[in-house]
Formats: sequence, structure tokens, C-alpha cells
Amino acid sequence: AELYNINGWGAPYFTVNSSGNVAVCPHSSATLGHQEIDLLKIVKKATDSISCGGLGLQLPLMVRFPDILKNRLESLQSAFDYAIQSGGYSSHYQGVFPVKCNQDRFIVEDIVKFGSSFRFGLEAGSKPELLLAMSCLCKGSAEGLLVCNGFKDAEYISLALVARKLALNTVIVLEQEEELDMIIDLSKKLCIRPVIGFRAKLRTKHSGHFGSTSGEKGKFGLTTAQIVRVVKKLQILGMLDCLQLLHFHIGSMIPSTSLLADGVSEAAQIYCELVRMGANMRVIDIGGGLGIDYNGSKSSDSDVSVGYGLEEYAAAVVEAVQRVCDKRSVKHPVICSESGRAIVSHQSVLVFEAFGCNSSTAATTNALSSLLGLQYLLEGLSEGVHADYRNLCATAIRGEHDACLLYIEEMKKRCLDEFKEGSLGMEELAGIDGLYDVVRKAVATAEESESVRTYHVNMSVFTSIPDFWGIQQVFPILPIHRLDEKPTVKGVLSDLTCDSDGKVDRFINGESSLPLHEIGDGHKYYLGMFLGGAYQEALGGLHNLFGGPSVVRVSQSDGPQGFAVTSAESGPSCGDVLRAMQHQPELMFETLKHRAFEHLREDSLLTAEAVTSGLAHSFNNTPYLVVASSQS
Ligand code: PLP
Repeated sequence: AELYNINGWGAPYFTVNSSGNVAVCPHSSATLGHQEIDLLKIVKKATDSISCGGLGLQLPLMVRFPDILKNRLESLQSAFDYAIQSGGYSSHYQGVFPVKCNQDRFIVEDIVKFGSSFRFGLEAGSKPELLLAMSCLCKGSAEGLLVCNGFKDAEYISLALVARKLALNTVIVLEQEEELDMIIDLSKKLCIRPVIGFRAKLRTKHSGHFGSTSGEKGKFGLTTAQIVRVVKKLQILGMLDCLQLLHFHIGSMIPSTSLLADGVSEAAQIYCELVRMGANMRVIDIGGGLGIDYNGSKSSDSDVSVGYGLEEYAAAVVEAVQRVCDKRSVKHPVICSESGRAIVSHQSVLVFEAFGCNSSTAATTNALSSLLGLQYLLEGLSEGVHADYRNLCATAIRGEHDACLLYIEEMKKRCLDEFKEGSLGMEELAGIDGLYDVVRKAVATAEESESVRTYHVNMSVFTSIPDFWGIQQVFPILPIHRLDEKPTVKGVLSDLTCDSDGKVDRFINGESSLPLHEIGDGHKYYLGMFLGGAYQEALGGLHNLFGGPSVVRVSQSDGPQGFAVTSAESGPSCGDVLRAMQHQPELMFETLKHRAFEHLREDSLLTAEAVTSGLAHSFNNTPYLVVASSQS
């Protein structure tokens, strides 16, 4: 557990049990009376054949824990409730979930269900997201906000206006000044009074990777001049009462509460100015950016960690809004946040299998081949030294690093003897010292690369961990069992795609390899990728036509296993992924079937019928490797 810092990034949901397996505490470890769930048991249940009592699913497997999702939502709400109560803040917190983080139907429905008692809402950034948010919120709290962000056309705005008529608490947030005329026009046509907000372009700049769109030159939001024009226009039209929400977003993974407080204070000043100008302000929407600690280092100067928790985040926000509003004698607004990553990252674990490994002999040979062609360092040295160097080169070509070291030691000793006798000059001795350093370094590199093995894993980085490939984001990855056994190998993970980028060779500890176990003969070796519940699923592509994983939803139960699988679904089949690229699997099958009957004679060993049934199986089966099942 320490080796993978599971307590650092996994608490309070993930730990290691006495069997050496990853254990999941969906209600958080602080909750008494709930037993941990052994992740390996879930994998066995999901992948064992139906005849053995399993669900017969293929890996990779996404295991979702709705109870973790519930706990995250409730923890965020309690953090704000606590900050509000303890500081004497006179309004409330009311969050929304930005559906772009994970549009999975069950996740969005769960968020609406779990959050309805505290008026939790949704944020949409496009027309399909708005449609899904509208339909899901019909089952949520009537007060839950539906925040409409993103670039908008007339259809988007009409939909958002209609949503108000459907008694959904919809706010249209101007991303650009031009959207205002469309809103005014369409609201008149449809006779619907809009509730309007806008996104302000703050001067506060987040300097990390995710902050490139923040600050004055940021891509999104209205400048101060544009804000003033919007207010004036609404005032002239007698619509200033419609302006009720101020939104900003300074970027994902806000590194520190000081930067957060800076941004919130700036926004709160704008909020107070809007109140002064006569707008009917009610809500300050602080956007997303609540970070999570991917490597467990609690550091504010890394893109994969943050130096605060939910409580500190909420306290910093409430304190900053309250301070500014009190100074300006402005009524405290409802505080809304659009936290995505912090809500959904923990709720799913991706489990995949390593099905083989090999050592990196090519890297060893590369390192040693750098020893060839260094004769120029031996100028003026004796024939004996040159002969040693030729031998050294021959051993380097064969990849024998121990022998390389013997030869260089021999050469150095020979030269030192010659120097002591007075037959070798200082320049020549310096030359041999230089060669000595080069050889030692090359051998060290070779040894290191030799000790790193490549583990072949049955998944696609492009489909399941796109941020690793796209923005160099690291996620906690570790074996989900054998954690009571010391790993003896270092490995990198190489995926199934025919692409050199399809590998994982950077890890949360900053190393380029991961401590791993030998894969035992006939035994399975399962790895888990954690904290990947936000963004990865929607961003994941179909490189090499590998589709998404099988998915199970797991809840805690009182049964002997301690869990129940409440839904199970196979990942997309070969036919499904082909269809996603506009192929027509049914027609493809017919074409191939026709060909089989044309080309295979009835008396041949391989009959057309057998080929046809094999083809049907392939179209319906997984694109991932079907690794023969064996004892675990
Ligand atoms: N709101 C807006 C406008 C965003 O652009 C984003 C993502 O970048 C979010 C909310 C969610 O941010 P996070 O996942 O960091 O909470």
C-alpha cells in the first residue's frame, strides 16, 4: 500500500485488506457498520462464466460505485453547509454538476437523485447536454439550478427558454455578448421571461496546465466593458430584473485556496457592482476547479495534486464572498459551484489484465552501443589498451555489461601503471578517465533499462485513459491484488493498440516505471486505474476500434460477499464499434457469408457454415483479447 501511496490518494474510499487486495469502502472509511468490499471478488464475479455463477463479462471492466458518488456529493454539501453555519453566512450553497465530466445516464440520474434533498442541479454546455439535463432534472428538486453555459445558437437558447416554461430553474449564462440579442429576441417571441447570467472574464490567473483559459486573455467570458454594456442594454429594455447570476471559472485543478480566494473576491466585487447597478442578483456561480489529489502529495505546485480538501475549499469560498459582500453591505448570494472532477473521479475503477511481459533488451543494446567509436579518446595509448578497447566493443555489441566493466577496469589499471612508470602523459591518462566515466554510465543505463519490463495490458490508453496520452495526466495505477507480496519487477504498461503512444510509462510517484509482480504461470494479474471517473469516458476515442469496457454497478450489501452487482453490461462488440464508424456490420456479415459459400466446397474441412458461424461470433464479440481463463 505504501509503495503505491494508496492512503495518500485513495482515502477514505480505497485501502488494502488483509488478503493483500484493494478494498473499497464506498461510504468512506469513516462510516461505521459498513464492511469493505474486496475489489478482486467483484472482478471474479463479473468475469467468471455464467455456468460458474459469474456474469461472463470480458475485461477491461469498469466498476462503478454509486455509493461513492453519493458520499462525494454529500461531503461537498456538508463542507459548504459547515462553512456557512460556522461563519454566519446568511444564504446557502446550491451546487450543479457539469455533465461534460461524465454524461453517463446512470451517473447523471444518480447525482440528481442523491442531490435532490439539497437542491443540487446540473450544468450543460451544449444542446444534447441541455436535453439530457432537462429530462434528468424533471426528477430532481424544483429549485435545482439548470445552468446553461457554452456557445449558444437560437435553438440552444429556445430550448433553455422552454425549459423555464417546464418549471425547470434554468439560467442562460452569456458566454459571449452577442448571445444577449438572441435571448432578448427569442424570449419576446416565446413570451418567456428569461433568467440571465453571464460568465465574467476575471483578471485572476491560474498558472497551472488547466489555467490557460483564465485571466484577461482567456478564451471565455465577458470583459468589464462588455459587462457594463450588457447591464445598460438590459436596463434600457426594462429587463435588468432578469440578470440574476454571475459566473466565472478560473480553470480545473485550482492549486491553492489562496488563488481560489483571490478569484472569488474579484468575482464578489463584480457581483456587488451589479447589485449597485440595479441588477436582481441572487447567485454567484464559482465554476469548477475543485481539485483532487491524484498522487496523494497534497502539493499546490503540481498539476496532479492540490494543497487543500473539500472543507478548506468551501471555507475559502464562503469567507471571500462574505467578506466582500459585508464590506459593501450587499445581501449574501446563493453560492453555486460547478465541481465536476471532485464529484465523479472516485466513483469508478477501471480493471484490466496484464497478459504477458518482456524485458527491454533493445534498450540495453542501445545504451551499450554508445560505447562504439570512441577510439579518439585513446590517442597516444599503447596497442595493449587499444586491444582492450576492441574487446570492450565486442562485448558491448553482445550486450554483456559485466564484461564491459572488466575491460574498462583492466584498461584503466594498465594506463595507471604506464603513467607511474613515466611512459604515459597526463593528457592520455585524462582520456582513459573520460572513457571510464562513459562506460560506467552506459552500463548503469543498460542495467536500469534491462530491469524495466514491458507488461502487455488488455486495454487501450486512447479509449480508457485519453488524458494520459493527450495532456500527460497521470492516474494512480496499481495491482489490485498481491499487495501483501513485495513486487520484484519494475514495469511499464503497453496497450493493445498498434501505436507507440499506447503505453503508460509515467506514474504518480514521478517514476517512469511501476513496481510490479512476476506474472505467475496460469495466474491472472489484474491492475486497476483509479480516480479516472471524470472526463476520460467522454474523451476516449476508438483508436484501433477498441471500444469502452464492460461496466458493472456495485452496491454494498449484507450478503456473504458484502456487495451486490446491481447492473452489468458488456462493452461494445466488434459490430458496435464498426457501426460507430458508419460501417454496416449486418451487410458486412452478409457479404462475407456469401463469399464463404462461393469459395468453400461442401467437402472441405472448413465448411461455409462453420466460417459463417465464426464470423457471426466475431462481430458479436469483444474487440479486446479474450485471454483464456485460469486460476486466480
Ligand atoms: N464549469 C466550467 C465552465 C468548466 O469549463 C469546467 C471544466 O473545465 C467545469 C465547470 C468543471 O471543472 P472541474 O472538473 O475542474 O470541477
